[in-house]
Amino acid sequence: MMRASFLIAFALALAPAAIPAAAEQYDVVIVNGQVMDPESGLDAIRNIGIRNATIEIVSDAPLRGRETIDATGLVVAPGFINLHWHGTDPASNVYEAMDGVTATFELEIGVADVDKWYDERKGGMPIHYGAAIGHAPVRMAVMDDPGEFLPAGDAARKPASDEQIRAIKGRVEQGLRRGAVGVGFGLAYTPAASHWEILEMFRLAARYDAAGFVHIRGASSAGSADREQGLLEAISHAAVSGAGVHVAHMNSSGQNAALRMLGIVEQARAHGVDVTTEAYPYTAGATRIESFLFDAWMDKPESEYQKLQWAATGERLTRETFLRYRKEGGLVLIHANTEENVRAVIANPLTMIASDGFDVKPRQGHPRSAGTYSRVLGRYVREQQTLSLMQALRKMTLMPAQRLERRVPQMRNKGRIKPGADADIVVFDPQRIADRATYEAPDVFSEGMRYVLVAGTPVVREGQPVAGTAPGRPVRAPILPSP
Ligand SMILES: [Zn+2]
Repeated sequence: MMRASFLIAFALALAPAAIPAAAEQYDVVIVNGQVMDPESGLDAIRNIGIRNATIEIVSDAPLRGRETIDATGLVVAPGFINLHWHGTDPASNVYEAMDGVTATFELEIGVADVDKWYDERKGGMPIHYGAAIGHAPVRMAVMDDPGEFLPAGDAARKPASDEQIRAIKGRVEQGLRRGAVGVGFGLAYTPAASHWEILEMFRLAARYDAAGFVHIRGASSAGSADREQGLLEAISHAAVSGAGVHVAHMNSSGQNAALRMLGIVEQARAHGVDVTTEAYPYTAGATRIESFLFDAWMDKPESEYQKLQWAATGERLTRETFLRYRKEGGLVLIHANTEENVRAVIANPLTMIASDGFDVKPRQGHPRSAGTYSRVLGRYVREQQTLSLMQALRKMTLMPAQRLERRVPQMRNKGRIKPGADADIVVFDPQRIADRATYEAPDVFSEGMRYVLVAGTPVVREGQPVAGTAPGRPVRAPILPSP
């Protein structure tokens, strides 16, 4: 009996190899594209056969499928993985898809209720999605903070009591047991949280093999003194606790100190600390004007306010309008960085690309939500040749997958083009890829993505979004029973 079933299994295992590849029928085949895979270094004309949302074959032999995508003259690469996103409306994820993103994550701030966040998105997302349990939102819940997304009251400005720290820890641990992808730390938005409180959260992250995703402190304005301090704090928590740490938007948190800070990241890594970082390719940042970040802006010289642009109207601020809008609350753009800094940060081999995007609306946003990936590929790869196409793709695919895969095993099948990998694939024109969104009009799709496949299903076809399709699946760490 055992022997017979063994033989049947053996015969079945042999069967696919006995049939010539050309005779197989795949769900989708992508033919004649320049296939680029940063993990293997493959950079050659190949055909790809996809079945059941999985890449089954990468071959130079002809393949047949129910749908054939002709990628002649186009690059075929793993779908981009965005480790930094804050959107709530799935329609905004279509802008990401048009920019090549096939999986997007709310990690830096994270969420207060992991189950609720995943349940709300079920069956409605064009691309894959995942979230961290967030220290800042949990702190807001425990301390009854009235802020909408970021702390605006006690969670920003008051130290937590021992009892409150216990409550925050309990909710963060619950989030980890419910499969949160990591632990988010908006440290710049919770300046009153003690080092002990933060270290306690990192200890929890370490126990669950999760990394901390951190908006570091000390970077509240263009000229603020000691940016390195916030980075050193984050690295200390990682070194002491044993958890990994991922430092958000090195471009905006680093400004003029960014290259020095990347040197610190490199040195810490050389000494065994698991620290990684990311950047978006714009000289302006964006955040809520009512957040703690702008407490430091109450007494600036008049000329400094010119760096601020009110997103809703496009106007540059004065001290008077700054004070007025701060009472109202809303999104403000901060024009503080230099093109030279941004170019160097994007080119640095340690930097992943991540957009820090959020819901896309006319006149109310930042072009990074819609344009980050195409801007790197168009402006920095093609036009300025600051980095090679393969280097850029590695920052958008393999590196973010590797950042998450220790805690989230399903990430081992993303960010790669190879048999067995998930069929999350971009097909784009390297001569035409470009961002089109601007500070004044942030709601414009990028150009040059011809096809974007999510779990084998096109969400972009012939350069246009496919309406009403939602193949996105949850990306989540294994769920554990309650302790
Ligand atoms: Zn941030």
